[in-house]
This record gives sequence, C-alpha cells and structure tokens, in this order.
Amino acid sequence: MARPDIITIPILPLGMVNAFLLIVPGGAVLIDAGLPGSERKIRRALAEAGLTSADLKLIVVTHGHIDHAGDARALRDLSGAPILMHEADIAYCQGEQPLLRPTGAFGRIFKMTGAIEAPFPHFTPDIVLSGSEERSLTEFGVKGRVLPTSGHTPGSISLLMDDGTVFAGDLAASGILLGGIALRNRPRQPPFEEDPAEVAASLRMLLERGARRFYLGHGGPLGAAAIQRHVARLERPSAMQGATRLKSAVSEAD
Ligand SMILES: [Zn+2]
Repeated sequence: MARPDIITIPILPLGMVNAFLLIVPGGAVLIDAGLPGSERKIRRALAEAGLTSADLKLIVVTHGHIDHAGDARALRDLSGAPILMHEADIAYCQGEQPLLRPTGAFGRIFKMTGAIEAPFPHFTPDIVLSGSEERSLTEFGVKGRVLPTSGHTPGSISLLMDDGTVFAGDLAASGILLGGIALRNRPRQPPFEEDPAEVAASLRMLLERGARRFYLGHGGPLGAAAIQRHVARLERPSAMQGATRLKSAVSEAD
C-alpha cells in the first residue's frame, strides 16, 4: 500500500502533524510546510530521498494555519521554490487571526492554549488560486491538480492526483487528540472547522472526482469508505436542522 514516491514528514511524532514530500521527476514537491522551525525535518526527508532543498520545485500550502503554513517562508528562502496557496487564506499568513470554531472539547482546550494563533513569519504566495480556480501541476512533474476544497478554512485546497491519491490537508483527520496516537483508521473532524457543511461538500466532491486515498495533516491516510462514513456523519446535523425547519414549517401551516 505504501507508495515509494510519497514520504510522510513527521512535523510532530505519531502522525499528530504531517507534511508530505511527493517525489517527482527531477525533484520533489512539498505539501504543507509544517510549524515554524521545521526546516531540519524537511531537509532530512529530502536527504532520505537523495535530494537537497535545491531540488524542491514547489511548496503547496493546503491552508493558512500555523501547523501547515508556519515554515513556508523559511523553506522558500532555503529552496527558492514557489509557494502555492488559495487567495482566501493569504490573510492568515499575514497576521490575521484565523477563525477557530472548535469541533469538540479538544478544540476548545487547544484554542485556550493560543498555540494555533501564535504568529509565524509572514509571506505572500507566488502562485495564487482564486475563487473556484483549479490548477494542473504537470509543469512540476505531478500528474494531478490542486483544487479549492473550502470548509476547514475558506482557502483550503487539496492536491488530487490522477490515480486517486489526494492530499487533503485538514478536511478530515483521524486518531485521537491531534492525529495518530490511537484509532488512526477512524476518521474524525480536526479540532477546528470553520464550516462543517462546506467540509462535507468538499469531501463529497473529491470522492466524486475519484479520490481514493486521503493523506491528511493529522492522522491518516484514510480510504474512500472511511471518508464516505465521515461525510455522512457531517451531513447528519444539517439534515436534522432541515428536519426541524420542515417540522416547524408544517406546524406553522397547521
Ligand atoms: Zn488546520
């Protein structure tokens, strides 16, 4: 199952925070830059593949949270690789506080620590997706494309490869706490989600477009069936709200 061209970089151990190297002809593409100060870990992963930071062709930042975007500027300085992001998350990389809607008790506690709102080196991405724009990455040697998959944040993006592999950032997570400590195969919401209904719609779109193996920022990877179950769970509360609305509309009509 493990693909030799995908290297998981443990930004924090046990799958708590992942970044990924995708080995491509003549170099590598980095998916997510990790927390500030992650250069050493990323260089080590490159070295394991016989590469150096100069071989980095592109840095895809799935969204503007510190554990994904925190080291992007340093890595660009080190490698010269352009940073690709969606315009809707740029403000989060320039000092604006992200909107943190906890999905449960862990998120609420985590928010109190202030860790995810800590400042990190500001940057402006070099390649910017806007609105519903998609972009093929063939020029970087990747058989796939980045597409907007909003919900976790407004500017969340995913890299969907032609073979069904997808790097989906924090659209879903697995395991307990921040990822892979246990129950790693069980999907769950990450600690924060700006719009769960939008997350469900984005995950559904990825499944419809052939996504089969989801590499995630926290925990994972997960298969399509697990994601399908997760989407159904996410859609349940809104279905309930719909049912309540229907019920009150009916009683009003009475
Ligand atoms: Zn996040």
